[in-house]
Amino acid sequence: MLGKLVVGNWKMNGDLRHNDALLAGLRAGWPVRATREISVCVPFPYLWQAQAALSGSAISWGAQNVSEHAHGAYTGEVAASMIAEFGCRYVIVGHSERRTLYGETDAMVAAKAGATLQAGMTPIVCVGESWAERESGAGESVVVRQLDAVVSRIGGRIAETVVAYEPVWAIGTGRSATPELAQAVHEVLRKRLREHGEAAGNVSLLYGGSVKAGNAKALFACADIDGGLIGGASLNVDEFLAIAGA
Ligand code: PEP
Repeated sequence: MLGKLVVGNWKMNGDLRHNDALLAGLRAGWPVRATREISVCVPFPYLWQAQAALSGSAISWGAQNVSEHAHGAYTGEVAASMIAEFGCRYVIVGHSERRTLYGETDAMVAAKAGATLQAGMTPIVCVGESWAERESGAGESVVVRQLDAVVSRIGGRIAETVVAYEPVWAIGTGRSATPELAQAVHEVLRKRLREHGEAAGNVSLLYGGSVKAGNAKALFACADIDGGLIGGASLNVDEFLAIAGA
């Protein structure tokens, strides 16, 4: 685990002109010798643009999804090896929008994490419970189940991943988890990870869900929160840099 890691998830947003401004603003505003790492996960068509704009900077880039298959007759899918060719460092897998809107199962997410590692990149494995699951008392068991599914597929290589706790009810709602709640879930995840060895226990554990400049500091100060996965706020240079510096 290095310092804090703050990753932007642009979701399905952007166009060439706005991306240029956003990437240039991040590059200009983020010090080369920063002790924290920042990264942006962009839509597939913009990977070349992120690579061109950020190469040689202290900012890495990545994708938001990947096929679980290596190649073949999977029309519309994008293989991990293709993403890797653009110099990507990260691939988000198992974002709740993919789980709920596109029916990605725990097994598919696990296979995507494996494919990402196989291609030499780092999966950012997202886990998170719905509000109904939280209210029924199943919140922690849901995130542990989602994590276990990935471990059962990739084994000790879980130590080479980043794990992001993103409560579904906090994503894009403006209703972030409190630092206390987020820390409690991170502690559970950390404990589970430690069962797979010291290195696994040291993976970066990110919190995501309505993180803003105003709440980032309190969240990142928690013992088991190693940074954030930032959606909406990553589209604004000043806001994203303020979060990254919090
Ligand atoms: C996300 O999409 O991963 C996310 C955390 O979104 P937001 O920050 O907008 O809640």
